[in-house]
Amino acid sequence: MSLSAASQRVVLATGNPGKLREFSELLATCRIQVVPQSDFAVPDAAETGLSFVENALLKARNAARHTGLPAIADDSGLEVDYLNGAPGIYSARYAGPEGDSAANNAQLLRALSGVPATRRGARFQCLLVFMRHADDPTPLICQGTWEGRILEDIHGTGGFGYDPLFYVEDMQCSAAELEPARKNLLSHRGQALRCLLSALNNSSGD
Ligand code: IMP
Repeated sequence: MSLSAASQRVVLATGNPGKLREFSELLATCRIQVVPQSDFAVPDAAETGLSFVENALLKARNAARHTGLPAIADDSGLEVDYLNGAPGIYSARYAGPEGDSAANNAQLLRALSGVPATRRGARFQCLLVFMRHADDPTPLICQGTWEGRILEDIHGTGGFGYDPLFYVEDMQCSAAELEPARKNLLSHRGQALRCLLSALNNSSGD
């Protein structure tokens, strides 16, 4: 499916309001018509993978299967060096199954209590998958990575998730203090989506 043929709708396999908002902003200027999977009452996929890419594939396949539409899914999260990559694929539920961002941030601050700034390196990862249909054997896969470090307390009210704790060296502020357009330019999700749009443009498929 090339972008020029993309009058067809594409289902977005996420129910996370923060991600939905960012995807809508990022896709506002392109011709893909993205519909959230909540519009089709798609049941959540069991995220049983052990890596971001496995979980993104599970989510995209689930959305494509339930809607009959091509699907985009991302799996993303935060890797902290001092914690050997945790919370990683468990970022959404680091502090418990409710997926509460304030509790996740508090848990992260506890885990890094007393750790100096030089050892608080971290990065956001985003794995983005596009499946033409549920049995697509060659999904398009793109990855975006955003380097930063974990602050000692929360700063800013924008964004979502771990943004108030994620310090962006180049901008000298937290991700939650960035304008949405600036975050989209720099972020793991923005990078991965631009990669995917370019792959879609270049794919000669049917
Ligand atoms: P997923 O829905 O399983 O991919 O969970 C991703 C989780 O990673 C989110 O719930 C957030 O906790 C975290 N996360 C991913 N992207 C971001 C971001 O851009 N800012 C802050 N937190 C993020």
